[in-house]
Amino acid sequence: MATVVTLNTGAKMPIVGLGTWKSPPGKVTEAVKAAISAGYRHIDGALVYDNEAEVGAGVDAMLKEGVVKREDLFIVSKLWCTFHEKSKVKEGCQKTLSDLKLDYLDLYLVHWPMGFKHGTDTFPLDNDGLAISDDTSFLETWEGMEELVDAGLVKAIGISNFNREQIEAILNKPGLKYKPANNQIECHPYLTQEKLIEYCHSKGISITAYSPLGSPDRPWAKPEDPSLLDDPKVQAIAEKHKKTSAQVLIRFHIQRNVVVIPKSITPQRIQENFNVFDFELSDEDMKTILGFNRGFRACPMHWGLKHKDYPFIAEY
Ligand code: NAP
Repeated sequence: MATVVTLNTGAKMPIVGLGTWKSPPGKVTEAVKAAISAGYRHIDGALVYDNEAEVGAGVDAMLKEGVVKREDLFIVSKLWCTFHEKSKVKEGCQKTLSDLKLDYLDLYLVHWPMGFKHGTDTFPLDNDGLAISDDTSFLETWEGMEELVDAGLVKAIGISNFNREQIEAILNKPGLKYKPANNQIECHPYLTQEKLIEYCHSKGISITAYSPLGSPDRPWAKPEDPSLLDDPKVQAIAEKHKKTSAQVLIRFHIQRNVVVIPKSITPQRIQENFNVFDFELSDEDMKTILGFNRGFRACPMHWGLKHKDYPFIAEY
C-alpha cells in the first residue's frame, strides 16, 4: 500500500499527515517534533489556527538537528477567507511563510470558497452572528493562487471545502493556468463523501480527509453528537484487527487513496496514528464502514450559512 499520493503536479504527498487545528501554541512545537521523529513527513496547518509560528519552531528544530531535510517534508497551509481579494492572496501566504520561517510551501489551499471582509477581524460578523462577505469571486482568488506558484512561494495549489459545482467553475475558468492539485474536505465514516471523492479523483484532484476521528475536540461539540471513536461498530472492527478505533478510522482513508491528517498533541497517539501501515481492512470491512454514513458534519461552518459561496447546500 502506497505511503504517498501522487499529485497532478507530479509531487508525492505523504498519505498520513499531522493536523494542527486546536493544537495550543504551547504544545504544538513538541507535537510536530514528536510526529517527525515518529516518521511523519507531512504537516497540515493554516493561518487561522493561530499557531503557525509554533508549528514552524518544531519544523525548524528538526531541520537544525538534521533529523530531516526540507525537501523530505511536505508542508501544507491555507489562505484564510479575509485574504480572498486577488491583491491580498500574496500577503496571506507571506504571513504564513514568515511565521513558519520557510521559503516555500509544498501545498497551499484556499481554506473555504467564501471570502470574508478584509481587516483585523479573522471572523468579521454582522449583528446576526453571520460572516460579513467581501465582493470577491473565488475565481479571482484562484488567479492570485496561481501567481504564488509562478513566484516560487508554493509548489502546488489546491482548495478546501469546495463542492462539485465550485470545483467545476475553477476547472472551466477561461485562462485557467493550474488545476487544483488537492481538495481538503471533511471525511470519515459518518460523512463518507463517495460522490465528491469520485468526482475529484476523476478530474485528477487528490483528496485530503480532515477531521478523520470526528474532531472530538471541536469547540462546538454537543453531548448528543455521534462519536466515531466510541462507536461500538468501529471498535468491533478494530478488535478484529488488534488495532485501535483511531487506527481503523485512519486506515479507512489510506485504502481509498485519500490523504488523512489526524490531529493530536499527545506523543503516544501521534505514534499510534502513524502505525497504520501493517494491517489491511478487508473489502467487507470497507463496505461495512461505508455503511456508517449518516451525513454528519463536525465542521458545518455555520457562520457562512447565508454567504453566496457557502458550499454545503449542494448535495455534494
Ligand atoms: P480529528 O483529527 O478528527 O480529531 C482530533 C482529536 O482526536 C483531538 O481531540 C485528539 O486529542 C484526539 N485524538 C487524536 N488521536 C487519537 C487517538 N489515537 N485516540 C483517541 N483520540 C485521539 O480532528 P480535527 O483536528 O478536526 O481534524 C484534523 C486536522 O484536519 C485538523 O487539525 C486540521 O489540520 C485539519 N482540518 C481542516 C479543516 C478545513 O477546513 N480544511 C477543518 C477541520 C480540520 P489530543 O490532541 O488531545 O491527543
